Amino acid sequence: MRKGATVRRKLARLFVVVSRCELPLFTFRLSFFCGVLRLNRLHLWQPMNEYAEQLLYNLDVVVGLKTTVESIISPSWLLKKNLEFDYDFYKFPYNADHVELYQNLINQPQIKASLNTLDKLLSNSVANRVKCTAPLCRICLSELNQKETVCRHAKICILFSGGIDCTILALLANKFVPYNEPIELINVAFESLSGQNVSEKLWDVPDRRTSLMSVNELKRICPERFWNLLEVNVTREELKTQLSTRIKNLIYPLQTILDESLGCAYWFASNCPNSTARVALIGSGADELFGGYCRHRNAYRRCLGTNSERQLSVQSELDVDWQRIPARNLARDDRVIADNGKTARSPFIEENIVQFLRSLEPFQKCCFSFPEGVGDKLLLRLYGYKIGLRDVALLKKRAIQFGSRIANKRENASAQSEHLKCNT
Ligand SMILES: [Zn+2]
Repeated sequence: MRKGATVRRKLARLFVVVSRCELPLFTFRLSFFCGVLRLNRLHLWQPMNEYAEQLLYNLDVVVGLKTTVESIISPSWLLKKNLEFDYDFYKFPYNADHVELYQNLINQPQIKASLNTLDKLLSNSVANRVKCTAPLCRICLSELNQKETVCRHAKICILFSGGIDCTILALLANKFVPYNEPIELINVAFESLSGQNVSEKLWDVPDRRTSLMSVNELKRICPERFWNLLEVNVTREELKTQLSTRIKNLIYPLQTILDESLGCAYWFASNCPNSTARVALIGSGADELFGGYCRHRNAYRRCLGTNSERQLSVQSELDVDWQRIPARNLARDDRVIADNGKTARSPFIEENIVQFLRSLEPFQKCCFSFPEGVGDKLLLRLYGYKIGLRDVALLKKRAIQFGSRIANKRENASAQSEHLKCNT
C-alpha cells in the first residue's frame, strides 16, 4: 500500500517535471524493480553538456532518483543536412540604401534558392497549423447545443506585435483561412511606467504604433480580408493582480524578469475578451533561429578574432538559444496561452524549418556588418520583402517586452524576478 502510494507520488512528480521542464529533450524509460519505480535509462536528444547536466540534476532532485544517460538520440530532423548554398551575406556591399541592398540580395541565385526553400517550408508549416483547426469558434462552441451553427467568426488569431515575424505569419495564414472569415490580430499594450516616456499617451506604446503600420501593409496586400486588429490595454494594477494570483504559477519553474515579461505579454494577449479564436499563431522561435537578438549582434561585435572566429561566436549564441527553446518557447508560452482556452502554435519551431535553418551557417541567416533592423534575421527580412512586405521588412523592432512597455530596459532581463521568487 505504502509502496503504491510512493510510486503514485513519484509518477505525479515526474509528470510535473515532464510537463513543466525541458523534457522534450529526453525520452526515458520507467521500470519497476522490487515494486520500486525507477527512472534509470535516459535517452538524450542533445549533446551532453553543462546545460543538459543541470537539467538532469533538476530531474533527479524533483523525482528523487538517480538517472544515467543511456544513449544520445539523433533524430534525422536534428542532424545537419548538407546544403548546396555557399552564399555569404558579409560579402555584399552596403551603401546605406536598404532597398538597393535587399533587391540585390534577393536576385542572387543562391539566396533566391534559399528563400524558395524557406517559402516552401514555412508555407507548409503555417498551412498545417491553420487548416487543422476546429470548425467552431469560442462563442459558437458554447452555443453548440442550442441551435445548428455555421460559424463565420474568426478561428485563428495571431498574437501581433507588428514585427516582421508575426506579420509574415499573418500574410501566410491568409492563404489558408477561408476567404469569408476574419483573422484576428491581437496587440497588447501595458500602461507606461512613470518616467519611461512621459510624452507617450497611456497606450500609445511602440508595439501599438507598429501594429497599426503593419495592419495597413496587410490591408494593402490583401484588401479582401477582414483583418480584425484587437487592442488589449492592461493597467499596472491588473498586471499586478493577475501576475501574483495566476500567471506566476503558469510561468513556474522559470523565474527571470524576461520570463515574467514574456509570460505576462502572452497571457494578456491570449486573454483578449473580444477574441473568438481558439488557435493562436505566435512568432516564437524566429529570433532564436534566424539571429534576431542584440545578443547575437554583440557576440559578433565583441569577438576580436578572425572572421571565422566571429562566426563561431554567433553560432555558439544561437546554440544556447536552441537549447532553451523547449523550456521557454514551447513550455512557458504554451502553458500561459493554454490557460485562456487557446492553443498556441509556433510555425517557426517546426522540424523541417529547424533542420533547414540549423544547417545554414550564421552568415547565411544574419549579417551584423549591416545596421540594426537590416542585418539581424536578414534571411527572414528578405523573405518578408520578397512576399510583399515593405515597411515591416525594414523595421527596427523592439522585443515584445519593451515594445509593449511591460518591461523596463534598465532591468536585467536574466535577473531573478521579485514577483516569481515566492514559488521557490
Ligand atoms: Zn463562431
